[in-house]
Order: sequence, then C-alpha cells, then structure tokens
Amino acid sequence: MAYDRNNVFARILRGELPCIKVYEDPATLAFLDIMPQSDGHTLVLPKEPAVTLLDLSPEAASACILTTKRVAAAVRRAVGAPGLLISQFNGEAAGQTVPHVHFHIIPRFPGLKLKAHAREKGDSDRLEQIAARIMGELDAQRG
Ligand code: AMP
Repeated sequence: MAYDRNNVFARILRGELPCIKVYEDPATLAFLDIMPQSDGHTLVLPKEPAVTLLDLSPEAASACILTTKRVAAAVRRAVGAPGLLISQFNGEAAGQTVPHVHFHIIPRFPGLKLKAHAREKGDSDRLEQIAARIMGELDAQRG
C-alpha cells in the first residue's frame, strides 16, 4: 500500500509535530496515545515507513515487537495494571485511523471499560505525569 509521507505519525517521526515520548531507539519510537482508552495507553511504531504490518520489513517488525515488550512491562508497572491489551490494526476496514503501522499497549483493569478508540483527548498534565512514571520504570529496567 502506498505510504503517505504526511500522515501524523510520519510528521511526529520527523519532529514536525510534538508527542509525549517515553522511549526511542534507532529503529522505533514509543509515545503516549493522545486520546487514551485507559491510563497509560502507549503507541509503539517503527521508524521505517510502512502502512501496515504486512508492509514492514522483518527487521523493523522484530524491532517493534521487542520495543513493545519492553515498553509494555514499564507501562504495566507505571499504572499498576493487572492486564494489558496489545493490539494492532491493518487497514481502514480493520479500524486503522493513522496509516503508519503501530502497536497499541492498553492497560486493563477489572470492571473498568475502555474509553472509545481515538475519540476523547486526555488531560495533558495527567499524560505527562504518566509518561514520567513509564520512563522511570524503563530506567529501572535498564539499571
Ligand atoms: P489506529 O486507529 O490504530 O490507527 O490508532 C491511531 C491512534 O493514534 C489512536 O488511538 C489515536 O488516538 C492516536 N493518535 C492520533 N493522533 C495522535 C497524536 N498526534 N499523538 C498521539 N496519538 C495520536
């Protein structure tokens, strides 16, 4: 599928738009979802331009899943979530709204329903606080 170089995540990757970053390495970037479905909702994306998982190189796909695993562990501890939903949409028909492949890390709590997908902006102070906790957990993982 043709890649739109001006999609919102491509612009974040080029530094043209801001994001609440929690992790970056040479192949991947992770930041908080601006319209979180639960506290700690984080997105992981490859720097390689690709619309869906099927368009991604094996190397970038591997890097993405390793980053997802690492960041998910930090998210879980940062928000004290007993469960994590990790999801990934391929194509508009599947619910993909941003055409640059990404993984969602969504904390789950018993009895707490998820907010709607990409609907309501999160409070920016709260997002910054959660990002700081996630980065603290990532530092602790490294240390
Ligand atoms: P999907 O529907 O899987 O393509 O998910 C796209 C996700 O990106 C949604 O959950 C949106 O809330 C989120 N999103 C859209 N724009 C931004 C942005 N500028 N920064 C962070 N998250 C965003």
